[in-house]
Amino acid sequence: MGKYNPYDNVLAVVENAAKVLGYKESDYEALKYPERELKVSIPVQMDDGSVKVFEGFRVQHSTSRGPAKGGVRFHPNVNQDEVKALAAWMTFKCAVVNIPYGGAKGGVICDPTVLSEGEMRRITRRFTAMIAPIIGPDQDVPAPDVGTNPKVMGWMMDTYSMLKGHCVPGVVTGKPIEIGGALGRSEATGRGVMITTKNTLAKLGMEMAGTSVVVQGMGNVGSISAKLLHAEGMKVIGVSDVSGGLYCKDGLDIPGILEYLKTPKALLEGYNAPGVEHIANEALLELETTVLVPAALENQIHGGNADKLNCKIIIEAANGPTTVEADEILKNRGILLIPDILANAGGVVVSYFEWVQNIQSMYWTEEDVNKRLKEIMDRAFEAVWDIAKENGVEPRIGAYLIAIKRTVEAKKLRGIWP
Ligand code: NAD
Repeated sequence: MGKYNPYDNVLAVVENAAKVLGYKESDYEALKYPERELKVSIPVQMDDGSVKVFEGFRVQHSTSRGPAKGGVRFHPNVNQDEVKALAAWMTFKCAVVNIPYGGAKGGVICDPTVLSEGEMRRITRRFTAMIAPIIGPDQDVPAPDVGTNPKVMGWMMDTYSMLKGHCVPGVVTGKPIEIGGALGRSEATGRGVMITTKNTLAKLGMEMAGTSVVVQGMGNVGSISAKLLHAEGMKVIGVSDVSGGLYCKDGLDIPGILEYLKTPKALLEGYNAPGVEHIANEALLELETTVLVPAALENQIHGGNADKLNCKIIIEAANGPTTVEADEILKNRGILLIPDILANAGGVVVSYFEWVQNIQSMYWTEEDVNKRLKEIMDRAFEAVWDIAKENGVEPRIGAYLIAIKRTVEAKKLRGIWP
């Protein structure tokens, strides 16, 4: 097996879906390349007085359907190919749920777990200044991803606003509520995962109540997904983070675990409760469960473990958790997979709502946000389910059929400039 490159995953799926759509290569050729890639060096004064230079990226994959949109990741394993793949997934995600954006992603190679708040702030501000020429409410709108959060978005918004000389709340989404964030944004991705899980189970004639689920990753997406799935009556039998997993066959006390995780830098390895077993991350993925929700990072379900999974349904809450090789194995094993570009789109949908509210300077209630989110997620789910059935393909290809069609048609209508 060669070195895993997530961008190869993107290209393989695009080719596959474009063929089903009967497109000529010239119709979708441009989609194989990001429109713009910026690599920056970020000098930062560390707390001990030394100067460290971090590497950062902003990649805009497509602006055919609107401004580029996508998160910023702070993680030691960030690299340009990963950011390129994540940017392309954003293009297709925004197209599946039909919001007027293209796709982008950013990243800085750093480890937030060992940085002080001051160091994080200085990295964020300098990174923002260096990508400022290519971002903006009409150009490219960043948001949180792995290792970043509303506080980081607040610093990005302030830095950009200082450079412009006036307040520009619409330059990033996922901001704190007090400075233009949307009610419901912090829960949106997990809420979308819950809605998607509910819709999937309903198609199979199953109830949420009492159905078992395992969630890998307890960050923003995983913890909210676990909370809302538990609140709907699902039996969350396993959860994990980078330190390892927890298992209880009768169901974990999710509110108790979330309370425990509120302590800054708390990890699941330190959590103990009667009947709870500590297990390795690999074992967590192999637990017998109806639903598995990978909500950590890419490349978690691959050729080496896809035949060991013991679930019936996978809801991809993370971006790119399953490789193309694993997809094939899962399909042959009859495991139903609902793809990332649909399942985790709740975050970007509510980011879109936040941007709309910033532009209008008019704010909605949380009920309004959640109601509109559900409408969009339900509509997108039905469309993907139906097109997959009509074409006899897996939901991943179904989602790409919709996304590629919308993106290619937008490109055709605009034409090639000049
Ligand atoms: P986060 O940084 O808040 O959390 C990541 C979690 O994964 C942490 O709990 C970490 O400990 C855990 N983790 C890391 N490596 C692991 C491993 N090997 N095994 C098990 N757990 C591991 O990040 P997040 O914002 O929750 O993002 C998670 C995924 O969801 C990413 O793929 C991200 O791109 C995607 N996503 C995020 C959003 C969003 O709104 N934040 C939206 C759509 C998709």
